[in-house]
Amino acid sequence: MRLFAATLATETNTFSPLPTSLSSYRETVFLRPGEHPTDAPRMCTAPLFVARRRASTDDFTLIEGSCFAASPAGTTNAKDYETMRDEILAQMRAALPLDGVLLGLHGAMVAHGYDDVEGDIIERTRAIVGPKCVIGVELDPHCHLTLKRVRIADVIVLYKEFPHSDVVDRAEEVLDLTLKTIRGEIKPVMSLYDCRQISSYPTTFPLMRGFVDRIKEMEGRDGVLSISIAHCFPYGDVPELSSRVLVVTDGDKAKGEALATKLGTELVGMRGKTQPEYFDVGGAVGTAMTANEGPVVLAEPTDNAGGGAPSDNTTILRELIARNAQNAAIGPIWDPIAVRLCFDAGLGAHFPLRLGGKTGPQSGTPIDATVEVIALARDAWQSFGPTNVPVGDCAAARIGGVEIVLITKRTQALGLELFTNLGIDPRAKSVLVVKSTNHFMAAFGPIAKRVLYVDSDAPLSRDYRKIDYKKVKRPIWPLDAETSPGLIL
Ligand SMILES: [Zn+2]
Repeated sequence: MRLFAATLATETNTFSPLPTSLSSYRETVFLRPGEHPTDAPRMCTAPLFVARRRASTDDFTLIEGSCFAASPAGTTNAKDYETMRDEILAQMRAALPLDGVLLGLHGAMVAHGYDDVEGDIIERTRAIVGPKCVIGVELDPHCHLTLKRVRIADVIVLYKEFPHSDVVDRAEEVLDLTLKTIRGEIKPVMSLYDCRQISSYPTTFPLMRGFVDRIKEMEGRDGVLSISIAHCFPYGDVPELSSRVLVVTDGDKAKGEALATKLGTELVGMRGKTQPEYFDVGGAVGTAMTANEGPVVLAEPTDNAGGGAPSDNTTILRELIARNAQNAAIGPIWDPIAVRLCFDAGLGAHFPLRLGGKTGPQSGTPIDATVEVIALARDAWQSFGPTNVPVGDCAAARIGGVEIVLITKRTQALGLELFTNLGIDPRAKSVLVVKSTNHFMAAFGPIAKRVLYVDSDAPLSRDYRKIDYKKVKRPIWPLDAETSPGLIL
C-alpha cells in the first residue's frame, strides 16, 4: 500500500494590508522531503507527521512530499502559490501508483485568482491520482468548506477544539479513515449542511463545549464515521464563507443527511450565543483598573496576528497610558523597527521612541514617548501546546506603569514566555493585555482572575456587519436578517 502526504497552508485575511509571498512561507514552514522534523508537527503538517509514525505498524509505504505553511496574513502571491502547488503535484505524479493521499491544508487560503485554493489542490490531486485513490484531508475549522472540496475528496476531518489542541488527534482519524477505505472496510459518504451564518465558536464557552462533546459521543457508532463543524473564517471575502456542518457516514447517505440537518439546525439556533460579551476599550481598561485582584486579562481579538491582523494597533496602549495605569503589561506589539531601536539604545536606556501604529489605518497612530528599555532578548519563542512558536528578537519598553512587549516575528499571544522571556511576570500584573482571539486561553486562562474581551478599532472587527464584504454570497446572518439554511450535499 502506497500513501503520499504533503501540506500547503495559510489562513488568508483578504482585508489584511500584509501580502503573503514565498518569503512568508520560508520564514514559517518550508520543508522538502528529507527535511521534516521528527519531534512535533509544524502548522498543518500533522497528517504527514502521523503517517510517518505509523507507516511500519500499519503496513504501508509513505512517500513524503513538501510542506509549506505561512502565518496568517493577506492574499498569497499567485505565482508563488502555483510554484509551491506544482512542486507538490510533481512529487505526487512521480510517486504513482498511489492508494491514498493525505493533505494537511488550512482551508481558508486565498491566492490572487484563486478564491478556493484547497478546492484547486484537491481537484488537481484527483486528476493525477485517478478515481480509485483515496484522498483524505485535514482542515482547520476556520475554513471555507466549499462544495468542490467535499464533492472531490473522500474524507475530510476538521479540528474540533478552539483553541486547536486536537490537531494530531484529528490527523490520526484522517489516517484511520483513509486506511480503512483503502482496505475496503468502510465506504465514506459526506453530507454538508450550510447554516448561512458568520460567527465565532470558542469551545471554552459552555454552549459550544457541550455541542462538541455530544458530537464526539456520536462518532464511531451507528455508522457515523466523523462529524466536523466548519466555524468559517470571517475575514476571508470569498463566495462560500459560511458556518457549515459536515457528516461522514459509512455508506448511508440518508443517515448522514438527516444528522447534518439536525446538527446544522441546532447551530443555527445558537446564533449570537456562542461568543463572549465584548467591551469597548474605555470600558475594559476602566473595569480592569478598578478590579481588586489581578491579573485581569484583556484579550484583543480584533488585532490577532493569528487572524491576519498586523498586531501593532495602539488604541488600548494609549488608553492605559492616558489613565496612568500601574502594574500593567501589553503584548505582543509587532514592530521590528522599534525592537531594533531598543537594541541600539541598550538595556536601561531612557530614550524617545515611536512605536506601533505603522502598518495601516487600522493600526491607529504611533505612540511617541520617552521609554525605558527594561529587557532585551534575541531569537525568543513562546510555547503553544507541544509546539514552540518563534517571536524573534524582542524588547520590553516601559512607559509609566505600562510594560510593552515588542516583537519582530509577527504572531499572537500564546504562551506566558511572551512576557517571561523579558523578565515580566504575567501572574504578578494587575492588568495584562494580550492580542489574540482565543488561543491565549490555553496559557493565560489558568492565571487570569478575570478575562475581558475587547472590541477595539483594530482590523478584525467582531461586528461582521462592519466588514466590507464584496464576494460573500447573500443572504447570510448577521448581515441579513432573513436567511435560508439547508442541506447542500
Ligand atoms: Zn483556526
